[in-house]
Amino acid sequence: MKVIRCIKSDKPSLSFEVFPPKSTANLAGVMASAEEIASLHPSYMSVTYGAGGSAAGYTAEISSALLALGVTPVAHLSCISATKEKILSLLSDFKARGIENILALRGDLPEGGGKEVLTEFRYASELTSLISEVGGFCVGGACYPETHPESKSSAADIESLKIKVECGCEYLTTQMFFDNNILYNFMYRLLRAGVDVPVVAGIMPVTNALQIKRICSISQNSLPQRFLRIVDRYGDKPEVMKQAGIAYATEQIIDLYANGVNAVHVYSMNKPEVAAAIKNNLSEILKG
Ligand code: FAD
Repeated sequence: MKVIRCIKSDKPSLSFEVFPPKSTANLAGVMASAEEIASLHPSYMSVTYGAGGSAAGYTAEISSALLALGVTPVAHLSCISATKEKILSLLSDFKARGIENILALRGDLPEGGGKEVLTEFRYASELTSLISEVGGFCVGGACYPETHPESKSSAADIESLKIKVECGCEYLTTQMFFDNNILYNFMYRLLRAGVDVPVVAGIMPVTNALQIKRICSISQNSLPQRFLRIVDRYGDKPEVMKQAGIAYATEQIIDLYANGVNAVHVYSMNKPEVAAAIKNNLSEILKG
């Protein structure tokens, strides 16, 4: 199934994300988590692609396992360290496995690497074009309600999203955000710029204080006072923080659905219990 169908639907959709392990030793554990999350019957599941193109094989492998479990996978694919030949070969592997959905990304520069990374692709839009040329895939892309850190301005960032859409990107999934008004403002600016593909809201349930530090180091998220108070009070109490983080994410999701943002993607970080708690909190709402 092409995920654009459920993303465009008037019914609320809820999808989850898993990330592949860095080494084969952890593959079985990740597969077990993916299987547990799949048993929740999400609308689809995305499988990330290792930074700088590492762990590429596991993305395809985990996506195949999800297909076998009856869950539609979205395989992430990044182009920052890839040649065109390598991408074409990965695409034919995806096709042979029955993977129909790709989130086309540029990818971040590998840690410790300089700016001169081998690449035949500068931007995700170039990867999107290539995938569209090959054909047969539903292609999504990433977007940043608080602006991509390398962009000069929000307007420039939105212009580059316009190009991505012109190259064949059918929907955009957002970077995490913790204040829904930031998303609503962003969606308004997208529409004003003529970017009218569906936007999937990416929600991160923050279940421990360490995650906050990591989030702040990789993105420019503004953290609302309401959220910071929760972390201040419960950050050093793991079980309480988990409960509060799940409640905060649930509230965000209910507000999104209530305002007509029907497609929500949860950065479930290979944690089946977090995915299950959110799904359970929304059980009646998801009936549409
Ligand atoms: P692009 O769309 O290429 O944008 C990168 C920068 O270039 C932006 O500043 C943009 O404004 C600018 N730009 C784009 N096109 C043009 C143009 N034509 N002219 C001028 N400027 C332009 N990383 C991984 O390694 N693996 C993953 O699985 C992964 N999954 C992700 C999922 C989501 C939903 C998100 C939001 C991010 C994900 N990332 C992942 C991180 C992503 O790779 C990084 O944020 C990366 O820095 C940018 O990727 P992009 O695809 O958005 O790049």
